[in-house]
Parts: sequence; C-alpha cells; structure tokens
Amino acid sequence: MDILFLGTGSAWRLPEYSCRCMICQRMNELGQERTRTSIQILTSVRILVDPGPDLLIHMNRYKLEAPDAVLITHEHGDHYLGMDDLLAYKRALPPDAWKPIPVYATETAWQTIGIRFGYLLGSLFEKRISEPGVDINVGNTFITPFKTFHGKTAKGSVGYVIREMDASENCKKLVYTSDFVDIESDCPILYEPEVLIIQSHWLNEPLENRPFHMSLQRGLDFIKKWRPTKRIFLVHISGGDQVPGDPHNTSVKKTPPVKPMTDPLTQTPYPIPLCQEDWERLAVRFCNDNSLSCPMIVPKDGDVFSF
Ligand SMILES: [Zn+2]
Ligand SMILES: [Zn+2]
Repeated sequence: MDILFLGTGSAWRLPEYSCRCMICQRMNELGQERTRTSIQILTSVRILVDPGPDLLIHMNRYKLEAPDAVLITHEHGDHYLGMDDLLAYKRALPPDAWKPIPVYATETAWQTIGIRFGYLLGSLFEKRISEPGVDINVGNTFITPFKTFHGKTAKGSVGYVIREMDASENCKKLVYTSDFVDIESDCPILYEPEVLIIQSHWLNEPLENRPFHMSLQRGLDFIKKWRPTKRIFLVHISGGDQVPGDPHNTSVKKTPPVKPMTDPLTQTPYPIPLCQEDWERLAVRFCNDNSLSCPMIVPKDGDVFSF
C-alpha cells in the first residue's frame, strides 16, 4: 500500500491568508505550505480520500490519475469542495467512455454534499453510502467506515479502516481518522493497524475545543489504545496553538491550552512547533517521552509512505 499525502493542513491552509501569527510568519519566511488535508492510497486500486478545495492543485502537482473510488469523511467544505475538478478526467475522454466514479459518504453527509454536487450525480459520480461497520470492497481492498464524533455541524462524520489483502489473505491495515474529538464506539478493527493517520489540529488540548477537533495531547490516548505497529502520521495541522510571546495570540484562531504538555524530566512545556523542522523534532521527542509503539511522523505535503 502506498500513501501519498496530498495535503496536511487544516480547513484554512497553512500559512493562513493575511495571518501574522508567529507560526504563519515563520512558514512564510521558509516558503512552507500545508494545503487542505487529503490523501491518495494506491493498492491494486487508486483511492482518493477527501477531495477538498485544493484538489486541482493536487492533481497538477502530483500528476494524479483518475481515482477508482473516492471516500469522504464528513460534510465540512475542506473535505469535499474540490469534487467537481474530477470532471477534467471525463472531459479528456471520447463521449460515452466515462464510467462514473463511486463516491462514498454517510447518508447524513450526503444530505449536505448532494445539495452542492447533486447535478453531477449519475454523470460524473455514483452516490454510494458509507455505513459504519459495513465493508466496502474495491479491487483487493476492503474499507470499513467507523463512526466518529466531530460535533453537530458534522453529524455524518466517519473514519475509515483500509485493508489491502494479498493472494494469501495477508492483510495490511491503515486507520484514517480525519476530523474528530472522540469515537462513538470502540471496535476491534481499530486495534494494531500497521499505520495510523490521526488529526493533530493543535499540539496542546485547547481550553475551548472548537469545533470538536483532536489535539496531539488528547490523541495520545487513542495512539496508546490502538497501538499502531509501523508508523503514526499527524495531519490536519492548524497553527491554532498560542505561542508564548506572540502578539497575535488574541486572534480568533488562537486558543490557550488547558494544561500544556511538558518534558517529563524538566517539566518545561514542549515548544510550540512553528515550521516543519520544529514538528519533526517534536515528533521524535514526544515519541520517546511517551514510549510509543512505533515512530511518529509529521508528513509534509507530497510525502509518500509505502508498507
Ligand atoms: Zn477539516
Ligand atoms: Zn471538519
């Protein structure tokens, strides 16, 4: 299974437009960028997860081919608003050569997505339902949606367990959580995946968790419970942590921490990562300090992982 991280940022991209906070300033200085979080998975089939508003940028940047299936985690714009850019693949073919792409989302999520993209159903896409606990089969790949809690504005939110089966029925497993603050019922299929991709909207759990996202501090409980065996990847990074001394800590996107995570030896708070290199250092330190079951990585846009 190959995972291509198309985007790794939150709903407003990083650095955010017009934001002067220390995180956005540092990323601008270094020319770093995190587009809206989305991945492509390659097994015997090509699966696109969350075709957000940056999809056309991703298609151009990574020379993407048309997906065999699309998975949508929930009905927030940063997770589906690029869907109509898939029309480019159909427009390049002769008439009648196009086979509509199956697009999976929960019935609740479709109530929102269908209003925006209903005119493309049947021609560009086929509407398919992600039913928690019910397997979806695409080629040699089985996908199981599981219900996640992401607040009342995303009642149709799910994560996906993606398993690639080889000819001997050996299985490689990826757990993809997307935006969430909790899961509604724990299930055995989430345990001991080779790879866990988990949201890290903030480093520290904020005083005001809006709107129901996962911090790395809170995510530690899920990482320890599910015990991934090969890699943990952090995505959907927002720049919402307050950085000590930043005059822009009063902006709307910033919220103070409940109790910042500290180094276990010195009890000093972990530095808030400003850029990719800071996140890489933090990930190694956090992994060692918490004796995690496998290495933790903060991917950049465009990174690939194969297992
Ligand atoms: Zn999001
Ligand atoms: Zn969301």
